[in-house]
Amino acid sequence: MTPTPVPTPVAAVQTIAAPKWSVTSRDLFAAWGRILTGSVPLLSIEITRECPLSCPGCYAYGDTHLSGGVTLSQLNDLRGDQLVDGVLRLVREHRPLHVSLVGGEPMVRHRELDRILPVLNQMGIFTLLVTSGVIPVPRHWMSLLPRTRVAVSVDGLPEHHDIRRKPATYERILKNIEGCDVNIHWVITRPMLDRAGYLEEYVKFWSARPEVHCIWVSVYTPQIGETSPETLTPEDRIELARKLPALAKQYPKLQFHEGLAREL
Ligand code: SF4
Repeated sequence: MTPTPVPTPVAAVQTIAAPKWSVTSRDLFAAWGRILTGSVPLLSIEITRECPLSCPGCYAYGDTHLSGGVTLSQLNDLRGDQLVDGVLRLVREHRPLHVSLVGGEPMVRHRELDRILPVLNQMGIFTLLVTSGVIPVPRHWMSLLPRTRVAVSVDGLPEHHDIRRKPATYERILKNIEGCDVNIHWVITRPMLDRAGYLEEYVKFWSARPEVHCIWVSVYTPQIGETSPETLTPEDRIELARKLPALAKQYPKLQFHEGLAREL
């Protein structure tokens, strides 16, 4: 039976790591005020279900990704005015300090984003757009920095990334972020620890790119009950906790400190 379509956008309040941005004490004070009066601090909005990638292990379309007993494939995408108005309505309703715009691949709605991002910026909301880099990032969005940022997911060196994330390959990402100022988000998987020097090679490459503001790192998180070769062992985590803070001292664009190491 064809499921009843439910219109997007979908609002999902998630616990995510707060990015290190130019948040002033005034911003924090205002944020606490809003939280105490019932606002959510962080709002993540999946603005589309479309994605030209087919990453192995993608759980965006899985049964448990969304609440309410629906999956992403059962939702209808909004476009144009409906999407712009829907996103802004959600933000006005929840009054978050920080909004993440995700997908699918959110850049397939770049025309709508072109209208949404400046409004969120004017509202004083920190906005993070998370993309695979498969579609060019408009350079004029850089005028919205530092409150509005683009993060590009790059999962390892080309030997791993280009296979997992094609067509968002290194070659394409580098072309699509030309002249921009973006963050790189790196998910470390088990195979990346097999080769000595891999971690430094990655950090060195992206640190040297003029388009890169900083590098965020997280480790592969399996779904409940999942056993996959990408999952890190406890020993891997200990090794990472030792290596990453040292790399961050050598390459300041890598945002990883001892406190984060303890969380590994
Ligand atoms: S980019 Fe994201 S949504 Fe698209 S296939 Fe990969 S993991 Fe899934």
